[in-house]
Amino acid sequence: REISVVCAVDCLILLISFLIFPVQMLKGKRVIITGASTGIGEQMAYHLARMGAHVLITARTEAKLQKVVTRCLELGAASAHYMNGSMEDMALAEDVVKEAKQLWGGLDMLILNHIGYTYFNYFDGDVEYIRKLLEINFLSYVAMTVSALPMLKESGGSILVVSSTAGKIGIPFVAPYSATKFALDGFFSSLRQELIIENINVSITLCILGYIATETAEKTVSHVMQKPGAPKEECALEIIKSGALRKRELYYPYTIVRIALLIRDWAPEFLDSLTRNSLNVENVKKS
Ligand code: NDP
Repeated sequence: REISVVCAVDCLILLISFLIFPVQMLKGKRVIITGASTGIGEQMAYHLARMGAHVLITARTEAKLQKVVTRCLELGAASAHYMNGSMEDMALAEDVVKEAKQLWGGLDMLILNHIGYTYFNYFDGDVEYIRKLLEINFLSYVAMTVSALPMLKESGGSILVVSSTAGKIGIPFVAPYSATKFALDGFFSSLRQELIIENINVSITLCILGYIATETAEKTVSHVMQKPGAPKEECALEIIKSGALRKRELYYPYTIVRIALLIRDWAPEFLDSLTRNSLNVENVKKS
């Protein structure tokens, strides 16, 4: 009963906030989107372009970034630029923010979305891989936030951190990835508290995503999932709306993620067993 009451209230709040979302809110806003050469990041770039925002996108593959920039300009972006390189390099993370300052003189939204290569299998014991993944998926997010905070304080801007259900609950076969996503929750939830205590008008939205049908995710996990992923286009739009509305957290797809989190705190063993049973574990081959 408690779960259904909380869900009903949450649904109502979500419905009202999304119904009143004015697309013009993002016209002319200056936005950095990381990991935007493919998948959800690419779709976020297109939505922001349609809304008339300035976008600066990042990833490693220059040819793909060039195509996304061209499409953004066709769709109506106020301006579109890219920087390529690997986020293992903290200097790149800082340079991207410097580039935004040089291009626009400020920043309104920082969308942290990129991830390094992720396997879906039993943990193989490779500690060095975890160190590298923490650099890409976590430390570069922190480095970009540190560099961007002065500009975001000035504009009263927002930070959007793209995370996962694997950053809130224990999901098998993604131990290194899960560690990096839990780290994001710890860091950014703590930082959010400090910003509020200091009356600093910068919002932090943590986006908790379930399975989304991107090319990478389908290649990595579709043989184990029992249901298809949610659409990446809709997911991208929900992330942008949540950030613009300065929500604390986004759950997408809403019902499945929200209910999992509610069960987590009351019956963790039950959730663990539900999670295991929702996967075709027999299709995971020990490497
Ligand atoms: P994609 O694999 O489609 O996109 C990842 C992006 O990151 C690409 O642009 C890629 O470009 C870039 N990237 C990869 N390695 C690096 C690197 N070393 N340095 C800089 N950029 C890099 O991922 P999704 O769209 O599926 O996921 C986006 C976000 O959503 C991630 O944070 C993910 O954890 C989260 N999420 C996704 C889910 C899903 O089911 N799809 C579920 C839950 C969360 P390039 O290779 O050119 O560098």
